[in-house]
Amino acid sequence: MDKQRIAVDVAVLGAGIIGSCCAYNLARSGLKVALIDPARPTAGSSGACDGFLSVSTKAPGITMDLAVASRALYPDLVAALGGEVEFERQDSMLVVEDEADLSKIAAHVDTVRATGSDIAMIERRAICTHEPTLNPDMAGAALTRGDFKVSPYRMTFALARAALAQGAIALWNDKPVAFDIAGGSVRSVETDRAIVTAEQFVFAAGVWSEALGAMVGLTIPVVPRRGELVVTDRLAAPPRHVLVSAKYLTAKADPDAAKTSPDPLVRLGHGFVLETTATGQCVIGSTRTFSGFDRSSSAEGVGAIVSEAVRRVPSLARAQVLRSFAGLRPFVPDKKPIIGRSGRLSNVLVATGHEGDGITLAPITGALIAALVRGQSASLDITALTPDRFATAA
Ligand SMILES: Cc1cc2nc3c(=O)[nH]c(=O)nc-3n(C[C@H](O)[C@H](O)[C@H](O)COP(=O)(O)OP(=O)(O)OC[C@H]3O[C@@H](n4cnc5c(N)ncnc54)[C@H](O)[C@@H]3O)c2cc1C
Repeated sequence: MDKQRIAVDVAVLGAGIIGSCCAYNLARSGLKVALIDPARPTAGSSGACDGFLSVSTKAPGITMDLAVASRALYPDLVAALGGEVEFERQDSMLVVEDEADLSKIAAHVDTVRATGSDIAMIERRAICTHEPTLNPDMAGAALTRGDFKVSPYRMTFALARAALAQGAIALWNDKPVAFDIAGGSVRSVETDRAIVTAEQFVFAAGVWSEALGAMVGLTIPVVPRRGELVVTDRLAAPPRHVLVSAKYLTAKADPDAAKTSPDPLVRLGHGFVLETTATGQCVIGSTRTFSGFDRSSSAEGVGAIVSEAVRRVPSLARAQVLRSFAGLRPFVPDKKPIIGRSGRLSNVLVATGHEGDGITLAPITGALIAALVRGQSASLDITALTPDRFATAA
């Protein structure tokens, strides 16, 4: 059977939150877009994660700058999507378990505050006044006012649907099998069902980006970093804040510690985080391990998540655990996302490698990619995120 022939301005490969947000921004600006995915929009990380939209959990520098810009875009984007995505303001608390970490976290809080965030350390004795569910044994905490949360699953589908409403063509459950490359640019992508010719291509395949890049000779070194989460039934009195521990920041920033530490929690990349969903259930995490593409949750990981959560929020001891699941964070060895135009294939742009930050960073990533596709300058200096940094290193 002959394959369907489709001609568009831009083909977006990958319909997770990043690809869907790129497709939405591109279609909204009047371009003809195809959104291609071998599965469906929430098949990857965007359907197996939390939806905490924060600045304080981001690495200082370009990632934090992206988070500030992205969080500012969220309210208008959600309003434009029109659907219910469980976008809500929820203040967050960064809890410090050990005295030894206090000065490091206080310095981090100063850095976050300098970006314009409303964050401050709070006195030890005031912690439980702000958050009565917390164990009073904490060494300290920082309170952020004005963080948000969203249902990542609903947000991803809302973006994909909004792209289609703007005229984008969905090629879902349709796997790219070959590319036609000539004269330093890609002419078309062949999928199981179609041959899609496009002026420009956006690669947004999350943890599958390395394999996708290899199909056209690009090095896109994204590695899956598994994260496990536990979901409880709804609580009568859930925490008022999204809770994140100082150790979460360390586990995220220092993947090498997991290789050498004698501490089993550090080896699991454990860092406590708790978010309450719109239904009052708690999503509690998380671990960080390099386990290939294995998306199962382990007894070891789930056990650590539950016992460490109860240590910080004692009332969770009576909570009913409903299920556990795992997602794969798209990790890049230099710990920065990859966003920009390839210098090697001039009509390919890459948008991936957001690790544990992709739900937060989707709006700014979509806006940046749309600007670059249209030949406009980026609203932030994203030179450090260029896909060419790996090709150069090689
Ligand atoms: C446990 C956990 C908790 C998290 N919590 C948060 C949080 O609170 N806040 C936050 O901001 N972020 C969080 N994240 C991070 C976030 O989930 C990811 O950064 C984000 O989902 C990545 O989106 P993506 O679109 O790049 O990837 P994905 O959602 O994985 O989408 C990639 C898509 O590409 C498709 N694909 C695969 N191969 C190909 C191919 N060859 N061609 C075309 N398409 C292809 C896949 O089918 C998939 O649909 C968390 C992640 C995990 C695992």
